[in-house]
Amino acid sequence: MTGHRVLVSGASIAGPALAHWLHEYGMTSVVVERHDGIRPGGQTVDLRGAGRTVAQRMGIEDAVRAASTGEAGVAFVDARDRVKAAFAAEAFGGEGFVAELEILRGELANLLYQRTREHTEYVFGDRITALDDHTDGVRVSFAHGPDRTFDLVVAADGIGSSTRTLAFGDEARVVPLGLYTAYLTIPRAASDGSWARWHNAPRGRVVALRPDNLGTTRALMSFLCPPRGYERLRTDEQKQLLRHVFAGVGWEAPRVLRELDAADEFYCELVGQVHAPRWSKGRVAMLGDAAYCASPISGMGTSLALVGAYVLAGELAAHAAHRDAFGAYERIMRPYVAQAQHLPPFTPRIAHPRSRLGIGLLNTLLATAANPVVQRVARRFTSPPADRIDLPDYTRLRTR
Ligand SMILES: Cc1cc2nc3c(=O)[nH]c(=O)nc-3n(C[C@H](O)[C@H](O)[C@H](O)COP(=O)(O)OP(=O)(O)OC[C@H]3O[C@@H](n4cnc5c(N)ncnc54)[C@H](O)[C@@H]3O)c2cc1C
Repeated sequence: MTGHRVLVSGASIAGPALAHWLHEYGMTSVVVERHDGIRPGGQTVDLRGAGRTVAQRMGIEDAVRAASTGEAGVAFVDARDRVKAAFAAEAFGGEGFVAELEILRGELANLLYQRTREHTEYVFGDRITALDDHTDGVRVSFAHGPDRTFDLVVAADGIGSSTRTLAFGDEARVVPLGLYTAYLTIPRAASDGSWARWHNAPRGRVVALRPDNLGTTRALMSFLCPPRGYERLRTDEQKQLLRHVFAGVGWEAPRVLRELDAADEFYCELVGQVHAPRWSKGRVAMLGDAAYCASPISGMGTSLALVGAYVLAGELAAHAAHRDAFGAYERIMRPYVAQAQHLPPFTPRIAHPRSRLGIGLLNTLLATAANPVVQRVARRFTSPPADRIDLPDYTRLRTR
């Protein structure tokens, strides 16, 4: 299938990666992104296993490595910043808490954008409002721009994808994991070294600080909570909520709370997974978090997005009919996604104990796991299933 015009909704990781591969096979894409540019923010994301292989095949592995945050590892600390357990980046064979190849989400999105912008039309500050899927194409309405018709539409607009809702109604379920997480970028302080630091406070609250390669620090605040619609609050309301929830937490929490007002790179989400019975309907397909978000806890979101984009574009190139291509994409990706979405038991509660006793037990458990001998055994259970897919080779289909 060459020469087709594909509309992609979302310009983070999955969208631009798909635009890259479609171009390799002689198809053109238009990417529409609701924000006014590539959205910055978020923390480090991991490229693991097949995700790293796809990055190699895209020719971006060196650029990713050059933009790596270079995080030395992660230390679990108490309220007085005393280290209770520490895992170097090489622990678990480079596939543990810190992956060997890590990059800020915004940096990777920008890298993919720069690699595709010459041959891809990017429309920022707009979004799809209606889809009319008919035999010859999909007529698409936008919030701002005029209607346009495309051969195919791909929803790559994240866990809360509104394109998914337009095309699939409420077929897909967003399964909450009982956790809210806020990410913000704050000024670097003398206490921020090259290690990420993670602090557990009672009542299932966590504050974590991670160094980045841009001279700032990435802060994370997460807390156990059933779904309450906080993800739909205004940003100022979310910040007020965090002040309330994290009041009284020690360690570096007061510093992070002080920086909330000034933080413009701020993102708060209800952590969850997307479970969808099918990933395509007619001429519309889904990709990345929109289709099969595994949650940041899985450590697999970015690898799934890159691998999914590679397979979807490759199968579109390999088949004359989009229907067959979508079917093959789903057959190849389903088992991989199922394994990524299979989280360890008691997630996320195990990493967010409610009591001081629970925090003490967690730290003891982590200190044991930090032992190199234990790690060799634990690796079988803790490493995300990043390699467990046979990546098809689509080289013969390239037109460039
Ligand atoms: C701001 C931000 C910060 C993140 N931080 C982290 C993190 O710290 N750790 C982690 O593991 N994962 C994080 N993620 C999620 C991570 O990027 C994904 O799990 C993974 O990389 C797969 O990416 P994706 O492209 O499928 O979806 P996403 O990265 O979620 O990207 C979706 C894109 O679609 C855009 N969008 C949303 N709705 C519409 C719409 N209606 N029309 C057009 N565009 C739309 C969004 O602005 C975004 O650019 C973050 C995502 C975002 C958007």
